[in-house]
Amino acid sequence: IDVKITGNAGLHARPATVFVSVAKEFESEVRVQYGSKIANGKAMASLLKLGVEGGATIRILTSGPDAGEALKALKAAVESGLDEEEEATESPADTRIWTPESNGRTILGVAAAPGLSIGRLFQFRATEIVVNDTPGESIEADQQDFQKALKTACEQLSQIQDAVLKRGGKTEAAIFRAQQALLEDEDLGNEVMNTIQAGHGAAWAWQRAIEQRIKDLQQLDNERLAERAADFHDIGQRTLHLILGSDHSEIHLPDEPVILVAEDLSPSDTARLDPKRILGICTASGGPTSHTAIIARSLDIPAVVGAGNAVTEATDGIICVLDGSAGKLYVEPNTADLQSARSFQISLHIQRDKEFGSRFEPALLTDGHRVEIVANIGRVVEASQAVEAGAEGIGLLRTEFFFLERTRPPSEEEQFKAYSAMARSLNGLPLIIRTLDIGGDKVVPYLPQPNEENPFLGVRGIRLCLQKPELFLPQLRAIYRASVVGPVKIMFPMIATLEELRAAKELAEQVRAELNVPPIEIGIMVEVPSTVAMAAEFAKECDFFSIGTNDLTQYVLAMDRMHPALARQVDGLHPAVLRMIDQTVRAADAAGKWVGVCGGIAGDPRGAAILTGLGITELSMSIPSIASLKAYLRKISKAQAEKLARQALACTTASEVHALPLPA
Ligand code: PEP
Ligand code: MG
Repeated sequence: IDVKITGNAGLHARPATVFVSVAKEFESEVRVQYGSKIANGKAMASLLKLGVEGGATIRILTSGPDAGEALKALKAAVESGLDEEEEATESPADTRIWTPESNGRTILGVAAAPGLSIGRLFQFRATEIVVNDTPGESIEADQQDFQKALKTACEQLSQIQDAVLKRGGKTEAAIFRAQQALLEDEDLGNEVMNTIQAGHGAAWAWQRAIEQRIKDLQQLDNERLAERAADFHDIGQRTLHLILGSDHSEIHLPDEPVILVAEDLSPSDTARLDPKRILGICTASGGPTSHTAIIARSLDIPAVVGAGNAVTEATDGIICVLDGSAGKLYVEPNTADLQSARSFQISLHIQRDKEFGSRFEPALLTDGHRVEIVANIGRVVEASQAVEAGAEGIGLLRTEFFFLERTRPPSEEEQFKAYSAMARSLNGLPLIIRTLDIGGDKVVPYLPQPNEENPFLGVRGIRLCLQKPELFLPQLRAIYRASVVGPVKIMFPMIATLEELRAAKELAEQVRAELNVPPIEIGIMVEVPSTVAMAAEFAKECDFFSIGTNDLTQYVLAMDRMHPALARQVDGLHPAVLRMIDQTVRAADAAGKWVGVCGGIAGDPRGAAILTGLGITELSMSIPSIASLKAYLRKISKAQAEKLARQALACTTASEVHALPLPA
């Protein structure tokens, strides 16, 4: 069968781990074909070597006693995303950057984790082990030593996973889980055993096998996969230390906290460091998706990656300022700049504390105009987290999560319990429940869809629900039943035609009448250009609009929102998208209906200011953006927002919109 790999990053270490673990549940042989290359589906290294990009289609071939079931399970696993977490696209608002007065020495890198740190550099050099090909007493003894080392390395990785999970590092734990899968790769183990059998030493055999895999990955024309070569290096070193019986314990850092500099940091290095002693991290190599970046963000340590050799050549112990938001390392700044960096750091802390402290205050603009700030959530626990973070309700509950991570659809009762629990935690604040929006990139394993040439233009969102009343009706019933617990509203996704809205409303009304509950507000997502064109007619037939700029942008610009090569261009601030939003607001205004935005640009200060200026009254965003975005809006006036919106509408390109001076 042919299946498409979802997500931007392709079949890199974490999704490949899941694939291999599913494949290993079956006796049959599993092969994966990508272009002209074929890999063993039960071997991590072999799979990674394929270099499968995000959005690409792979062919899965199975043969053996349970070939059919294996194929079915693998297809379902790939289609449900292989446990891949979405990259955070709705980043917290962070608009302030420190600039030094003097032109001192600056090393440029890539911003990896935000924040400013001031301290002495500490050059960390991982000790590389030199391995000679010296066989031990006997082949059997060498093979045993190797297998014992492999087993211990696996156990160590399990322990690290437990430890980081305990401190909440889910993404970090996944890295170690992927490393464990690399270690358990049968091809790798067999290759080393055979090399030892041929008369070579265990350490040498292991080192050779690892180096070959690193070389293979580095040759791939895929940065993300090439970065994963670091995993092989990491497990290589861990196991090598064990084979040779050398010390691989804690790294000793100076007592005074430091800015840690390294060529690159392996996940194992990071796990051996005491984060309390690290003010910042700067590495010579690595990109924004490297482990260093992921781990630094999860530990909230400012980090710059990809800063080149200049940073590893810098003198140990010198004072530097590291700006993780701008991706810069200022080397030995003068006293005045150090002083100003310290004041900036303090003001940043005060600002964050203040923003957080005022999170329950409304986003009142300087002239008294109020913008409603609500949250995008997907899970039950997030309802109370949103309130605690300052949200004034839920602008978008993505119900897909209830349907995705399971083998059959949730029952009406389960959904009722989830929705009413959320309504209760919201304690009177509004809850907009979006009905199931699957199809397109989101595929549910128990709902096999016929293969579509263009799934984003296929049976997705409301189209799918209208075709499957057995899925839609229980959800509507659960929503109406929960509506007596709190102010619940219904929102239909991906509405493209009036017929769709009418059909969906008719089913909703049928359910409502059966349950004999009062009517509730019904709104639609505006994310398809035809809906913008017909906004005046839609506004007459529903209670509100919420503009899904993520999808609207992809359909207006005809650029796949998941396409890795188009990532920079699929920009919700493109004037074409902004003009569509403007058109929608005007049509809604004429009908006396309100318009919100729940796509990514709502949580960004520039986007929020422009949207406010265009007349949007509700902004729905990810939880971490709420406090700082409210604080930002309190600093500007409606007139300033309107001026910015007018300027943005008159721009000819997205970069012009980004270059407009931001008020406040
Ligand atoms: C959108 O398309 O902007 C949106 C909010 O919906 P989703 O991201 O869930 O498709
Ligand atoms: Mg959408």
